[in-house]
Amino acid sequence: MAVLANQRVAYFNGRIVPEREVVVPFRDRSFLRGDAVFDSTRTFGGRPFRLRQHVDRLYRSLRYLRIDPGLTPDEMLSISEEVLARNVHLLDENSDYWISQRVSRGTDAAGDEGWEHSGPTVIVECMPIPLKKRARLYRDGMDVVVPAVRRTPPEAFSPRAKTHNYLNLVMGDMEAHAVDPDAWAVLLDVNGNLAEGTGSNIFLVRDGRLYTPQERYVLPGISRRVVMDLAEAEGIPLVEADLDLYDAATADEIFITSTSLCICPVRSVNGNPVGAVPGPMTRRLTDAYVRHAGFDFVAQYLRHLDTAAAGR
Ligand code: PMP
Repeated sequence: MAVLANQRVAYFNGRIVPEREVVVPFRDRSFLRGDAVFDSTRTFGGRPFRLRQHVDRLYRSLRYLRIDPGLTPDEMLSISEEVLARNVHLLDENSDYWISQRVSRGTDAAGDEGWEHSGPTVIVECMPIPLKKRARLYRDGMDVVVPAVRRTPPEAFSPRAKTHNYLNLVMGDMEAHAVDPDAWAVLLDVNGNLAEGTGSNIFLVRDGRLYTPQERYVLPGISRRVVMDLAEAEGIPLVEADLDLYDAATADEIFITSTSLCICPVRSVNGNPVGAVPGPMTRRLTDAYVRHAGFDFVAQYLRHLDTAAAGR
C-alpha cells in the first residue's frame, strides 16, 4: 500500500530529514516521563515572529529542567530559521506555520539497543496552524469553559516552564469538551483564581483597565508580553492580579492571547455571555497587535470562513 507523506522536513539530532524519518526511540524520556521542553513560534506570511524571545524562553525551560541541549541559543535560532526556510515553499498565501523546538533529556538506554544517538533528543519542526478550524472564533468569539481540574501550582512544578507534560491541561480540555465540543478550557489555579488554558493566557477588561493572572501561576506567554507592551505604549493601565470567576462574570470584555491566535475575543464563560465581541478594548489592542506584527492575522483567519463556506 502506498504511504502518504507530507514533504516537510525537520531537524532531528543534527540532520535535516523528511518528517517521517523523525522517529524517537521508545525509551526516550519524553515518551516515558514527559521529560522534555518545547517552544513554538508562529509565522506571519511565512516570516517568524519574535523567534528570539521564544528561543530564550526555551532555554529558561531547559535550565529549569537541567537539560543541556548541546546547542547554543544562537545555534537553535539559526536551525529554526533553516528548517523554516526549507519548508516555507509549502505554504500558500493563506497559511502559516508553528515552528517548534523540542528537546528531551534523551533515552534511558541499557546501551545494547544499537541506537546511534545518545544525549538529548533535539527536534525542530514546522506544523501548519489550523486557521480554517479556528476562523469562526474571530467572527463569533470563543466560548470558554472552566473545568474542575486545576493548573499545576508553582509549589509542585512551575507552570512558567513549557514542557511536554500538559496532562492537567489535557484533562481540562476533555472536561470542557464534554460540556461543549467547541469550547476552550481555561483552568483555575489551586487558589481558585483564573490561570490559563492549553496554549493560551487570559485577559479581562473592566472600567478601561486590563487584568491578567500573575506570571507565577502561568506560562509567561510571548503574546501576553506583546499585549502588555502594547497596553503600555497605548497608555492602558494593566494589573497582574488574582482574578476569580466573579471577575470573569463581571468583566466588560475578555480575550485570550496565544502565539497562533495572537488576540482572540471570548464570547462566554461557562455559558455566561461577555458583552460585545470583540469589545472596544479588544479591538483596539487587536489593531495595535496587527500594526506591530505588520500582518493582519484577523483578516487571515476570516478569509478562511469564505473557503469553509465554499467547501474548500
Ligand atoms: N499557556 C500555556 C500553557 C501555553 O502552552 C501557551 C502557548 N505557548 C500559552 C499560555 C501562550 O503563550 P504564547 O503567547 O507564548 O503562545
